[in-house]
Amino acid sequence: MKMRRFLSVLLVATALFSSSCCSDSEKQAPKKAKNVIVLIGDGMGPAQVYSLILTSPEKTAFQRFPYSGFSVTKSASNEITDSAAGGSAIANGNKTNNGVIGMNPDSIPVPSMLEIFAGQGKKTGVVVTCAVTHATPAAFMAHNISRKNNEEIALEISEKDCPDVLFGGGKKYFTERKDGLDLVSKMWEKGWNIYDSLPQIEDNNARTMVLADRKHLAEAPKRGDFLPNATAKAIEMLDNEKGFFLMIEGSQIDFACHDNDSATLVEEMRDFNKTLDVVLDFAEKDGNTLVVVTADHETGGLTIIDPEGNYTRTDFHFSTGSHSAVFVPVFSYGPGAERFSGVMDNTEIISRIMENVK
Ligand code: MG
Ligand code: ZN
Repeated sequence: MKMRRFLSVLLVATALFSSSCCSDSEKQAPKKAKNVIVLIGDGMGPAQVYSLILTSPEKTAFQRFPYSGFSVTKSASNEITDSAAGGSAIANGNKTNNGVIGMNPDSIPVPSMLEIFAGQGKKTGVVVTCAVTHATPAAFMAHNISRKNNEEIALEISEKDCPDVLFGGGKKYFTERKDGLDLVSKMWEKGWNIYDSLPQIEDNNARTMVLADRKHLAEAPKRGDFLPNATAKAIEMLDNEKGFFLMIEGSQIDFACHDNDSATLVEEMRDFNKTLDVVLDFAEKDGNTLVVVTADHETGGLTIIDPEGNYTRTDFHFSTGSHSAVFVPVFSYGPGAERFSGVMDNTEIISRIMENVK
């Protein structure tokens, strides 16, 4: 009898122990992020990142990320993607044809993660150094059959409820239009605050657009610290209880590589690196922010070689004036960051983000 009692006590104790070892408090659900910051280096393949590492005396921001992986960038129509299809695949998780913004190959609009997060009550923002209607930012904010329709894309942006913060260039598509509309005036009437420069911003809580140039901003370093400063300001304005989504683009890494201009490429990479430091400093302090850095494609077919082949010097060698088909890197930090290691399709980035955000 006594032995039986002992055994049953033992069984209960074992059961209790095993249940307590696997209770909710012990087997904690992985922490989810409140904020998401996606950074896209347009045209930034592995060699573009390596060009920064080779020319930086100090550790780069890329080396601060605990996880990294590769993204497959081909589009629905082409093995070599453009920024419209590449940006759309990242923004909404669907492969589409080159040139198409925010639609699937059947021209059906697909909501972007910016729009989905806005619908969930998060604040949203876009910060770029090109015209805000250009392919990459457009893929997050608009749906159009062609990236060339800058004025239609500007009109769509002016009529939407998101984003809350939009910093970049491209004022001419809002004010010098074939249809004669002055979208800047219309947007002021709708409650936007609109300026030419960041220091003019007075009210952090108002929907705010800064169009710092008629078209794209100047190349680095001529535009100063616009991208890191705009990023810091956007984070300050967006940070709130419900969280935020922010897309930041190093837009002109691509332009420098189209021009096969290695000096400007390195300046653009330094500018993007400084911006990454701003984002990581915030994310480290905040503890609730998932940061994902990737590219839409590689530009220039960049390799870093010794033309004599004896490894005594390095030369930046571009093999094309357009894009190439190679893996682009993915770097991640914060809650859920481990989901971005390995090889992923560019269409998988959105779901890996979504499953790690509360
Ligand atoms: Mg772009
Ligand atoms: Zn390009």
